[in-house]
Amino acid sequence: MFATMMHGAGDVRYEEVADPKIIAPTDAIIQLAVTSICRSDLWPYRGYGDFDGLKAMGHEYCGVVVEIGSEVKTVKKGQFVVGSFCLSDNTCPHCQYGFQSSCQQREFMTSAQAPYARIPLADGTLVGLDHLPDPSLYPDLQAVSNVLGTG
Ligand SMILES: [Zn+2]
Repeated sequence: MFATMMHGAGDVRYEEVADPKIIAPTDAIIQLAVTSICRSDLWPYRGYGDFDGLKAMGHEYCGVVVEIGSEVKTVKKGQFVVGSFCLSDNTCPHCQYGFQSSCQQREFMTSAQAPYARIPLADGTLVGLDHLPDPSLYPDLQAVSNVLGTG
C-alpha cells in the first residue's frame, strides 16, 4: 500500500510501505475512512524542533475494523471506530482514573495517512459505533478523533 511519510523538514512523500499486520494480541487493523493533517505535523515539516527520523504520518483517524488480535474484546470486525492519537490500555490505574493520556503503556499513534493502519492497544484506544455512519458524518467523527483524544 501507499502511505504518507515525512523524511525531514519540507520533505513529505507518498510512497509504498508494507501492509500493517497484527503484531500483539491487543492490536487491531482498521481500514481508514478519514484521516487528517494535524498542526503538530506542521512543526517538524517547517523545521521546528528536532527531527528524529523517518515518520509515518497520521494520528487522527476513523475507520472500519478489518482484523483484531486474539485479546481484543471491545471492538469487532466490520465495526466503525473512532481512534485517539494517544494509545492506551484502559486498564492501568491511570486509565481507570480517567487519564488515558498518562497510560502506563502509552504510545502515540502514527501511520494513519494510509489505506490501513495497525492500532496497538485497540480496546483502550478505539471507540466503536453501533452502526456504520453515513459518510457525510465522517468530518464530524474526525473532529471527535481530534478533540476527545486531546481532552
Ligand atoms: Zn492505561
